[in-house]
Amino acid sequence: AENRTPLMAGNWKMNLDHQQAISTVQKLAWTLKDAKHDYAAVEVAVLPPFTDLRSVQTLVDADKLDIRYGGQDLSQHESGAFTGEVSGPMLAKLGCTYVAVGHSERREHHNESDELVAAKVVAALKNGLSPILCVGEGLHVRKAGEQVPFTLAQVDAALNGLSAEEVAKVVVAYEPVWAIGTGEVATPQDAQEVCGAIRARIAELYDAELAGAVRVLYGGSVKSGNVAQIMAQPDVDGALVGGASLDPEEFGRIVRYQ
Ligand code: PEP
Repeated sequence: AENRTPLMAGNWKMNLDHQQAISTVQKLAWTLKDAKHDYAAVEVAVLPPFTDLRSVQTLVDADKLDIRYGGQDLSQHESGAFTGEVSGPMLAKLGCTYVAVGHSERREHHNESDELVAAKVVAALKNGLSPILCVGEGLHVRKAGEQVPFTLAQVDAALNGLSAEEVAKVVVAYEPVWAIGTGEVATPQDAQEVCGAIRARIAELYDAELAGAVRVLYGGSVKSGNVAQIMAQPDVDGALVGGASLDPEEFGRIVRYQ
């Protein structure tokens, strides 16, 4: 919408080893090349598991692909005694552009709080990574009709203390938890309602110009068959795609939604 470049980002979750990662990215690149995809018109990114990133980097560099990539999470710390964690400097060194922060699966299975998510957003920005900040309500909240205030509270917490220059680098992904991996996609109107409210909140917290520049994605059971209607909404600037991004042909069709 407006002059925001749409972003289609594939979140592979805990799927595909480093060899499968290479063939998947290769197939995606071929699919998009066949379709003469204009990467400047619709940006393409994948978020593979950490163990795949070095392989993806090597392929992207060798073949000069326009495909961007990033991590699915990062530590709030720069380095040190944090066994099992991966830091922002490590992701930056691998050529990552993006990093997902606060995905609902992290919030749920790893008890990530709004405060931790905010610290991770700061860690990403400090290392030149664009955080893809994931927010969105569960079924309970949706049934109570509280999806807008709930999601905006997550946005407020995550952006707290950031400068306008920093917020300009953030991508927000509205992912209603009840629509993730369930096959139950939000209606285009549901997506627009909350994505529009997120943009309006950024305008309130900062200004309209910045709000008009920040990309707000929708995520939750996006497929080639439903992406066009969602992308037709004025405040939806792309999609965060889980399951459907594992199939490079299907993800290619999502990227080419028009
Ligand atoms: C996600 O994990 O961010 C997601 C949207 O998953 P799915 O597309 O599988 O619902």
